[in-house]
Amino acid sequence: MATREFLQQLISNPDRLKDLVDYAKETAFQHGLIIRTHETPNSSEVATYAPFTLFPTPVPKAALLQALAVQTHFNTLVDKISQDPDFLEEALASTIQADDFAAKLFGIYRQVQQEGRTQSIVLGMNRSDYMVDQKEDGTPSLKQVEINTIAAGSFGVSDRLPMVHRLVLQSVGLVEESNRVQDTNRTAAMSAALAKAWELYGQQKAVIMILVEESQISKFSHRCIEKELWNRNIPVIRRRFEEVSIGGSLDGDKKLFIDGLEVAVVYYRFGYMPDNYTEQSWETRLLMERSLAVKCPDVGTQLAGTKKVQQVLARPGVLEKFFPDQPDVVEQIRATFAGLYSLDMGPEGDRSVAMALADPEKFVLKPQREGGGNNYFGDDIIRVLQEVKTDKRRAAYILMERIRPRTEPNILLRKQLPITLASVCYEIGVYGAYVRHGGEMVLNEVCGYTLRTKNSENNDGGIIGGVTVFDSAFVI
Ligand code: ADP
Ligand code: MG
Repeated sequence: MATREFLQQLISNPDRLKDLVDYAKETAFQHGLIIRTHETPNSSEVATYAPFTLFPTPVPKAALLQALAVQTHFNTLVDKISQDPDFLEEALASTIQADDFAAKLFGIYRQVQQEGRTQSIVLGMNRSDYMVDQKEDGTPSLKQVEINTIAAGSFGVSDRLPMVHRLVLQSVGLVEESNRVQDTNRTAAMSAALAKAWELYGQQKAVIMILVEESQISKFSHRCIEKELWNRNIPVIRRRFEEVSIGGSLDGDKKLFIDGLEVAVVYYRFGYMPDNYTEQSWETRLLMERSLAVKCPDVGTQLAGTKKVQQVLARPGVLEKFFPDQPDVVEQIRATFAGLYSLDMGPEGDRSVAMALADPEKFVLKPQREGGGNNYFGDDIIRVLQEVKTDKRRAAYILMERIRPRTEPNILLRKQLPITLASVCYEIGVYGAYVRHGGEMVLNEVCGYTLRTKNSENNDGGIIGGVTVFDSAFVI
């Protein structure tokens, strides 16, 4: 492929390489592919380019189409799980005994279920992540890494990357290649779901509240969503847990008010990790969850996105229960599953432990965490399992088959990262959104995809954590 050969030439010509890298960064600034810095995450005085690859990375078309085609079924599945307390209770029974965070979320879920749900509008905004596994015979096979049902990001400013990539390719004469980099409308499509939920709520003056973190490094991306909403005359506010705790209350009908404003939709871009919460913010979460506001996601939907649920879904017969008359859908979803194994106490879990200890390179050990950097690989699997294998603490984890993606050469651009030709691998993240009103799905859509790429030497990922960068697909 031309970019591959071009990269080889480029790396042996440092002056030309520097010029091109500078041009790429300048183009990123020019088009607003920018992010706040770790040093000053809350300042609007300083920004840098959002990390990205110099060239788009080649992605097999069949894998991409497969990932896009299955997304609306994943939307339906997540929605069905979130409404099935018996399933969630059984799936998470051991996990909540071993993991405080899952237990806290489940406690809220149970409490709200017991009170009786008050809001019949449900809004889900997901991102299902995949790697393309390279089988031994060389054939590529799409495998789901996880599904994110809360605070799924990486859209917003990164929508400008295809434009940047096209200009970079054109600048070095790769015109045909540049024409194959497609634009994306994922921010508009995801925001349309937020707008739909707001519309159904039916109060012109009610706001969409984005629940944000203290360190607002991704604020420019949120601004892209806010712009889509303001364009529709939908008022948007941003609040931290603490602010909601001080200024938030429910009225007699359980309508949620913040600083005098009625909240139609709470859109969580925070609240996915234990250290996102203080005792006070747990109370605030409960307040919002009990309210009449549409929650994106509600706590049941957040739980539907846990690694434990992912593992239970891979058991024989479970998908069939959610899609009783749709064997094609079951097959389409199951085709994306990697091997997933329970670590619950009992003979099945014992077998998983033995398997992992015998060949740790074949597996990933995963706790119920989000946000990157939490998984165990290789010898660390042995270390952790040796410590927890004889008691119920091991049920806080699941075991997953390790996906071995094909690597490609590319150059990762990130502030202060030296310029080197790296061997990289990518994850395809497919966006999906749905809105349900009572028993009726009024919107169920695939909202485009993102590519996020890391040096293949890194096992785990994460854009904010400094491993992964934005990429776009060069579809082959
Ligand atoms: P998180 O919720 O922290 O993002 P993920 O399941 O996405 O958790 O795992 C984080 C990263 O670890 C992924 O982006 C990927 O790089 C790596 N990873 C996770 N599962 C696997 C797997 N089965 N095989 C190979 N790498 C994996
Ligand atoms: Mg992930």
